[in-house]
Amino acid sequence: MDVQLAIIGGGPGGYAAAFLAADLGMQVALVAAEPRLGGVCLLRGCIPSKALLHVAKTMADAGQLADWGVSFGKAAIDLDAMRARKQKVVNTLTGGLKQLAKRRNVRVIRARAAFENPQTLRLEPIGTEPLEDDRVWFEHCILASGSSPMRIPALDLPTDRVMNSTTALELPEVPESMLIVGGGYIGLEMGTVYAALGSRISVVEMTGGLLPGVDRNLVKPLAKRLQSDFEAVYLHTEVVSLVDRGDSIEVVFQGGAGDAKEGVQWFNRVLVAVGRQPNSSDLGLENTQVELDERRFVVVDGRQRTADRHILAIGDVAGEPMLAHKAAHQGKVAVAALSGEPGEFSPRAIPAVVFTDPEIAWAGLTETQAEAEGKTVEVAQFPWAASGRAHAVGRTEGLTKWLVEPDSQRLLGCGIVGPGAGELIGEAVLTIERGATIRNLVDVIHPHPTFSETLGAAAEVHLGTATDLYRPKRKRPCG
Ligand code: NAD
Repeated sequence: MDVQLAIIGGGPGGYAAAFLAADLGMQVALVAAEPRLGGVCLLRGCIPSKALLHVAKTMADAGQLADWGVSFGKAAIDLDAMRARKQKVVNTLTGGLKQLAKRRNVRVIRARAAFENPQTLRLEPIGTEPLEDDRVWFEHCILASGSSPMRIPALDLPTDRVMNSTTALELPEVPESMLIVGGGYIGLEMGTVYAALGSRISVVEMTGGLLPGVDRNLVKPLAKRLQSDFEAVYLHTEVVSLVDRGDSIEVVFQGGAGDAKEGVQWFNRVLVAVGRQPNSSDLGLENTQVELDERRFVVVDGRQRTADRHILAIGDVAGEPMLAHKAAHQGKVAVAALSGEPGEFSPRAIPAVVFTDPEIAWAGLTETQAEAEGKTVEVAQFPWAASGRAHAVGRTEGLTKWLVEPDSQRLLGCGIVGPGAGELIGEAVLTIERGATIRNLVDVIHPHPTFSETLGAAAEVHLGTATDLYRPKRKRPCG
């Protein structure tokens, strides 16, 4: 088969690139190992996890209504129905992608692809399905092969009781107790789901805090809530070994500092979520000029071009952050580069959202990053305890903050913790990307009563006077 553009990978990066290229008139073949389009995000990541988190959030909200005089009693959980509903969401979306590919004449091939040379892919069939062609010759190829869960050999037990994010999303059961190794995005999101369904959740995190790298004042309200939703959070602690004891897993902890956990404990299940690594092996990259960095990410320039002039790379395989929306954006940049259109991957603000309850979202510069880079910034913040909407829904623990460039007063970053933070961050992304100042925020009208008001209110506080917060004026020397 001879095509203008071959794409390896059917995730949000791969299919976004394929669809745009086809819309621009290119002849496109997309090779993916999965039987359906969607990649990790749609098949066993973002989408199914958000479907389950929706259940968890609704249950938590219903439980909170007891404070308002409404009680529902103990929830009856039908796991088969929940699994089926989650699968329906995935099937609908992946079915939609299949149609979109078909309408655009994107040729989707289910196979494992590897570079034979910089302009040829060798295809290997998966399962018993025969292949029409075993080679694809291309002018250009976009590598969008994604990432996989990081594995720790000592924790790799051949038992269903030790799960990764994929198996945890399958909801095999609601275990009585579950240990989550890794207090990052996946650990806390899946912990939230299983805790809502009734499991006693413990988290073990090797650093000194949950969600390392995220600003501490954003993590604090979540950590506080997890103190009651989870059974335990062990910081500065590593798991040294796991032993299969039949109906439980024996876990040996080793503490690194302070009141870290030490000793042995038993759990019905263990979920290992200690990060992801790029899928850059077994692709025949040694038969091309493509270069990898020390963490095995593909090295790309601002237009997603690799060191091989025929090959571009996007998404998780092309570096951090490993987020679906970044992959999709890079896919569009890569296609623009191929079609001679302008466009570069140089965002001021890539949003990130942790879909816990409360949610945590940020975009652009963070305080942690500013500190690490020795950058002086001003911080404008508004506590949700002063928000009418937050009181109306009983969620006053939130916080909205902006990072501001001292002289220009330009907005460099935003961080939000609170229910719906993931939706609110969209406004911040646009504001930062467009180079707005903190004054611009005060000049726009936010709808009342909404959480979005907190974005403007934080700016008001920073500029000296805010309707909903009293900030005493600094005393000026007389005379
Ligand atoms: P992560 O990097 O978010 O968290 C991994 C955590 O495990 C870190 O806190 C790390 O310190 C800890 N850790 C590492 N080794 C450990 C050990 N031996 N013992 C105890 N703790 C250990 O990784 P993740 O949660 O696996 O998620 C992977 C990636 O997937 C994320 O970085 C993100 O890019 C993506 N993701 C995004 C979302 C989202 O956008 N909402 C959700 C899930 C995953």
